[in-house]
Formats: sequence, C-alpha cells, structure tokens
Amino acid sequence: MMSSWPRRFPSAPSPPNSDMVPLSPRLLVVEDEQHLAAGLKLNFELEGYAVDMACSARNAGECLLQRPGYDAIILDVMLPDMTGFDLCRKLRDSGNFTPVLMLTALDSTRDRVTGLEVGADDYLAKPFELTELLARVRSLLRRRSWERQQPPTRGTNAAVISFGGAVVDCERQEARMNGQEVKLTRLEFDLVRYFADHAGRVLSRQELQEQVWKLANYPNTRMVDNFIMRLRRHFERDPSVPAHFLSVRGSGYKFVRDPPVAGAAP
Ligand code: CA
Repeated sequence: MMSSWPRRFPSAPSPPNSDMVPLSPRLLVVEDEQHLAAGLKLNFELEGYAVDMACSARNAGECLLQRPGYDAIILDVMLPDMTGFDLCRKLRDSGNFTPVLMLTALDSTRDRVTGLEVGADDYLAKPFELTELLARVRSLLRRRSWERQQPPTRGTNAAVISFGGAVVDCERQEARMNGQEVKLTRLEFDLVRYFADHAGRVLSRQELQEQVWKLANYPNTRMVDNFIMRLRRHFERDPSVPAHFLSVRGSGYKFVRDPPVAGAAP
C-alpha cells in the first residue's frame, strides 16, 4: 500500500498567487490518502481557503517551519511516520496552539478522547460528510477571529479566574493547578472563561457549543462532554466527583466557583 503513494505530493506552499490574498485563511491538511487529500484540497480551495498539503508528520513539520502562521490544521490520525496524536502533542508541547481538527479513523470514544487529550480542538470520524467538515473548520476559524477581536477582558469577570486550587489566566493563556502548570488549548481557555462568566447558571450543551465553539444548530454535542471531562481531569481534586464543573442531569453543566465544603461542621 505504501508503494502506491503519490509521488507528486506538494510539500511546499502551493498556489503561486495565494500570497497575494492575505485575507483567505490558510489551512494545513495532513493526510496521506491521496484521493481524500486531493478531494480535501479541492474543496477547501473552492471555499476560498489557501491550502498546503502534507502527506506525513515530517512533511507537516517542514510546512510549519516554512510558514508558521496557519489558521488551522486538519490532521489525520493514521500517518505513515507518526500518529496524528503524537504530532498534535508535539505541536502543543512546542508552544504551537494553532487550532487542530483531528480526523479519526473510527468513531471510537477512545480515539476522540485521546485526540482531545493531546490538545486537538475538535475531531471528526471518518467517513465524514464534506459539509460537516467544512462547517467545523469554519467554526474553528470563526472562533479564532472572534478571539482576536475581543478586548482584553469581557463578560463580568476579570481575565484571571480562580477556583479551588486553579488559577486560569485567559489573557496570558496560562493555567495552574495547585501551583503546577497545566497546558490548555485555546478552546479550553474559552470554555473555562465562559463557565466563569456564567457561574452558577445551568448551561446547556447547545449553548456551550454555540457560544464557545461558535457552532450553531449542530446536533452532536458529545464533543462538549469530552471537553468537560478534560477540564475535570485538569482542575478537579477528584474528577469522578466534580466540585466545580457539575453535570445537571438532563440540562447540561454548571460551574461552581466556591462549592460548599464537604463534611463541614454544621
Ligand atoms: Ca491516513
């Protein structure tokens, strides 16, 4: 299978005139399946994106070195030289927080959770509908441009959010739990901030999806649950018995900044 790989894979920034259109968002698509890669490139270009292709993790690394300012990365999990998970983890560890949409091979919970744990912002299971992929990429980019337009603080709270042992600085994009640094993706910062701005209120998955992911009328809300799970692992003393990111059965989630002390004397 490996031998049937395309020889003609553009590793370098492609369309010669794309530099003249600074406003079109630039995507890096990391996908080794030739037909899928070609289809993605074509469709993204039809949507007005500038697209660079990479057929391996190594190739992706070269693209990122040549052009640091990608607006989003579409990353396949199964790559010939490294998994997309490992590549995403490497990116985040190196301080690159470009939004990543992961293409997982199976719609398995484990793959999805792994993707989010290594710092992907979203995932889509193969096979997927093109319209869904395009909607999710638009959502990633919308969120990004919206973040850039935000004044330093918004909502009712300051940019530094404290609860339990956690200190989350949304401006500087730094987070600590009991003094230990916690690496969050931009989306996780947004989610914490949204919760903090609406502390004590029950927030539906739909609302979180619309307000944080900028994804309207999107039926699949499991992504939200996965992110809450992740926040609990970062910031709850016991993630299985959350004190701050509470589930509200049948409704959604609620953030509690100062939970009542368990076992406190009456
Ligand atoms: Ca693949």
